[in-house]
Amino acid sequence: MAVVKANAYGHGALPCTQAVLDAGADTLGVGIVSEGIELREQGIQAPIQVLVGIFPDEADDLIQHNLTTTLHSRSLAETLSQRAGHLGKEVGVHIKVDTGMGRLGIVPDQLPAWVEFIASLKNIRIESIFTHFSSADNTDPSFTLKQIQCFQTSLDRLKKAKFDIPLAHCANSAALLQFPESQFSLVRPGICLYGALPAPGLGPVIDSLTAKNSQFSLLPVMQWKTRILAINSLPKGSPVSYGQTFVTQRDSRIATLPVGYADGLERLLTNRMQVLVRGHKVPQVGTVCMDMCMIDVTDSAEVQEGDEVVLFGQQGKERITVDEMAAQAGTLSYEILCGVGKRVPRIYLP
Ligand SMILES: *Cc1c(COP(=O)(O)O)cnc(C)c1O
Repeated sequence: MAVVKANAYGHGALPCTQAVLDAGADTLGVGIVSEGIELREQGIQAPIQVLVGIFPDEADDLIQHNLTTTLHSRSLAETLSQRAGHLGKEVGVHIKVDTGMGRLGIVPDQLPAWVEFIASLKNIRIESIFTHFSSADNTDPSFTLKQIQCFQTSLDRLKKAKFDIPLAHCANSAALLQFPESQFSLVRPGICLYGALPAPGLGPVIDSLTAKNSQFSLLPVMQWKTRILAINSLPKGSPVSYGQTFVTQRDSRIATLPVGYADGLERLLTNRMQVLVRGHKVPQVGTVCMDMCMIDVTDSAEVQEGDEVVLFGQQGKERITVDEMAAQAGTLSYEILCGVGKRVPRIYLP
């Protein structure tokens, strides 16, 4: 299952969906019903699971668009059965077991009774049993191993009770990379499809996989670029941007970029990040504004208005990863990628 929720982690739902299906993915994971509907309306016919689950009043939309949902409550099961019957259809569900995330799902002990109840409902097809890891990106494997064991025990109980459920799944990207025993019949990678790390500490894991297996590599899918809108010569002692958080310490050339926090360039990155211009790293200076931010190009005399600037990605021999940007902002690659604003045009290279 290729996870393409949140506009494919900011990369654009439809082009990424087409790419992962072309690459052999069997099924898709979205977050919410509207994301599934959007893909259906654009002609995607592959199975789609709404991972978050739904409110009862979304049942008709789900069923009419041939989407399947995570199932985590009895009342939702009843509503789905009733609405599917009313619409003359069948609806697929994925029963979520909470093995330690404390977010969604039923307690493992109740699983057999649950499955029996759901199997007794008309117009519902149980497609899978699944769970989600809370700490698979951790260097300490103990909690994840506990979750895997709990999941396995739940499956064993079902088998004993003679329930035959087609699929079982639990691995997210971090588990896929670190816990081969978590693979079961389906895996659900998201972030690693986009070439970013689930956690900065997993870099060495990736490197060792790459070293062992030349078929394996993780390449960043997205690069974020802009251009220099203006260059100003500011004398020593000039404040730059809101709140004067940066004051030039010398006669400076300060370049203005037409990108700001409304585009997803976190205000927290103010005076912390670097960007690439003409193949060199230069510092961002002054408070990041809604639509603009400034960089200091004093040391790069050749830099001109209109020059390409890389926020993350490659330029010449230099590279800035989304993980580095995320670290500077005190967050993860996930949040930066999902946060790249709607008005930033996505350009797809063949
Ligand atoms: C988002 C999500 C995933 C993918 O997680 P990554 O860490 O991006 O690989 C897998 N399973 C569920 C239930 C999710 O919500």
